[in-house]
Amino acid sequence: MALATTPQGLPVLILKEGSKRTTGREALRTNILAAYAVAEVLKSSLGPRGLDKMLIDSFGDVTITNDGATIVKDMEVEHPAAKMLVEVSKAQDAEVGDGTTTAVVLAGELLNRANVLLDDNVHPSIIIDGYRKAYTKSIELLNSLAKTVEGNNFEVLKEIAKTALASKIVSGGASLDALSEISVKAVLQVKEQLDGEVKIDLDNVKIEKRKGESTVKAEIINGIVIDKEVVHAGMPKRVEKAKIALLNAPLEIEKTEITAKISITSPDQMKAFIDQETNILRDMVEKLASVGANVVICQKGIDDVAQHFLAKHKILAVRRVKQSDMEKLSRATGARIVTTIEDLTAEDLGYAELVEERRVANEKMLFVEGCKNPRSVTILARGSSEMVLDEVERSLNDSLNVIRNVVLDPKILPGGGAPETYLSVKLKEYSNTVGGKEQLAVQQFAEALLVVPSILAETAGLDPVDALAELKAKHEAGSHAYGVDAVKGKIADMYSLGVVEPLRVKTQVLKSATEAALMILKIDDVIAATPPK
Ligand code: ADP
Ligand code: MG
Repeated sequence: MALATTPQGLPVLILKEGSKRTTGREALRTNILAAYAVAEVLKSSLGPRGLDKMLIDSFGDVTITNDGATIVKDMEVEHPAAKMLVEVSKAQDAEVGDGTTTAVVLAGELLNRANVLLDDNVHPSIIIDGYRKAYTKSIELLNSLAKTVEGNNFEVLKEIAKTALASKIVSGGASLDALSEISVKAVLQVKEQLDGEVKIDLDNVKIEKRKGESTVKAEIINGIVIDKEVVHAGMPKRVEKAKIALLNAPLEIEKTEITAKISITSPDQMKAFIDQETNILRDMVEKLASVGANVVICQKGIDDVAQHFLAKHKILAVRRVKQSDMEKLSRATGARIVTTIEDLTAEDLGYAELVEERRVANEKMLFVEGCKNPRSVTILARGSSEMVLDEVERSLNDSLNVIRNVVLDPKILPGGGAPETYLSVKLKEYSNTVGGKEQLAVQQFAEALLVVPSILAETAGLDPVDALAELKAKHEAGSHAYGVDAVKGKIADMYSLGVVEPLRVKTQVLKSATEAALMILKIDDVIAATPPK
């Protein structure tokens, strides 16, 4: 029963029958536990030696991934506080494209540490204040730790990409090398200078997947590749200096919505009827040819008769192309997507130096290369199975994003838990300047950060306690680039190993994690309505 009490101690019913209410510490503890449970799940997948999760959805589809954002999204968590951590990973993914696992794990650990403080009777508002101070100080410290690099330096960007990819399915030597190189090329290709400002729109990078071959065989194509074949055997398979019409209209006689009956009484009438249909289709194709199109890319269907006329005009055509591909083609070739063929003019056509159908792993694909807009590239990803390809795609999204981050803001940090250890050591010093119980909160914030190097050490087969002690000693002695070499299983200088991350990712990790933890800590009353029957 949902009750509240008046100052005189009289019970009043303020909520609907069946609503549930929990308040105070009980509400807070439950929320913390739920959120922490989500973070616990992700811990084992952090870093290059982290393990993958197999997720099976309600339709039985299987996803194998190491990507924090994907895992929590597919987990379909129910508890509202746990959902907040799902939101954290989404925000992290949207803002910077990497660091999703770290953000969730850190948020969980901040809450776990807050629990310790609650046990010691520290009020949530004191914890909140302490965490805020620690967060502000951390951002300041991270900025001073960061190294400024040359944003176009290929080698630096490749290292950044490699670190982001190291924790993924592609982490084997050769594929790691190939995919990081392709990612750098792709980002540099789509980079543009607009009013003296660098802009990178990753929508210009299309990722096309094709099963077969190993991940190392991925390719980068200057232009757009679509998973379609030329519709008619009589059409050219290769058109140079292509003038491309993009149609969002069928090259077919559309069936009417209403059912009508036409009575045909003689063979002549029948012929006239068919001729008329043929004439309409012929006119459509004549129109396309008359404006100069030699390639037709159609979002809808193309009738057999229309195909025949197109082939006669030596026009290459493909049909049933996805809308997203149509939009990409429009941007790349400069063509306007036309919905009524009668309105088509020469100005609506796009341009590409070459349009060609090629075989990739025994299936045909259409390559549109040398487009009018040079800032459009396709990464043709390869892999042995759909599951591998999906993970390759997610991994490429991470690497493209981290490269973009560094090109736009050329500041990097060492990886392998080095910045977290550095912050932890420095925050401990800083906590001495913070008075009262807030000091305890700053100290717990500092402890929470160590979860990152600790997991990296553990998954690399090191004893986490020993590793942390060694690591902290290095940082206290002023070697701030030391972190966990997760591959060799020892403490090492991350810069000399080339394990580097964008400053942007790390600051966003701290921001998302702290915000989520604070949001949960601020709740002391949970009122839940009864779910509808
Ligand atoms: P996230 O989703 O948070 O990016 P990842 O599973 O990608 O999680 O792991 C990222 C962590 O792994 C970062 O702290 C990064 O510095 C670390 N890392 C990547 N490569 C290495 C490496 N070779 N040695 C040690 N740590 C690494
Ligand atoms: Mg990552």
